[in-house]
Amino acid sequence: MLPLVALVGRPNVGKSTLFNALTRTRDALVHDEPGVTRDRHYGICRLGPRPFALVDTGGIAGENVHLEASGLAGPTAKQSRAAASEADLVLFVVDGREGASALDDEILRWLRKIDKPTYLVINKTDGLDARGAIAEFSRYGFADALAVSSAHRHGIDELVDEVLEKL
Ligand code: GDP
Ligand code: MG
Repeated sequence: MLPLVALVGRPNVGKSTLFNALTRTRDALVHDEPGVTRDRHYGICRLGPRPFALVDTGGIAGENVHLEASGLAGPTAKQSRAAASEADLVLFVVDGREGASALDDEILRWLRKIDKPTYLVINKTDGLDARGAIAEFSRYGFADALAVSSAHRHGIDELVDEVLEKL
């Protein structure tokens, strides 16, 4: 079995874009876990010397949005929690443009509780000063943080290296 990495974060931070950048798919290899849920997308990242499995815990859609308001309530969030709990490593994805939000704080509190190896990924840093973006999240106290742009594929190879170092 491949080691499993979970993408966790509030809606719209770019988890699915990062998932696609890491799996190099748009939808082709993004498939539903049979019989379980439509919202947990699994894929495989083969960009590094060793492959690892990836789960995108997004899947916020339509009427579920309000249930996600707290980031931790509702059916989709329940799946996010399950995915993070079964993962070997969590990538906590945040939005470098919007900065830290109350929802991020809440997700972080929960991540600390489940006590998984967690790596902070600051996305959407295209056109931003990476150091400034990292500084914005320094109060989260992560020893490891990386600024990336999933949309522009900046920092993706570095991220793969960091992930493989921790698996
Ligand atoms: P998710 O809800 O966390 O899965 O977020 P999505 O992957 O659906 O992305 C939300 C929005 O952010 C979309 O409009 C993306 O195009 C945009 N986005 C994602 N990654 C980046 C990025 O690296 N830079 C910029 N500028 N926009 C991004
Ligand atoms: Mg998504």
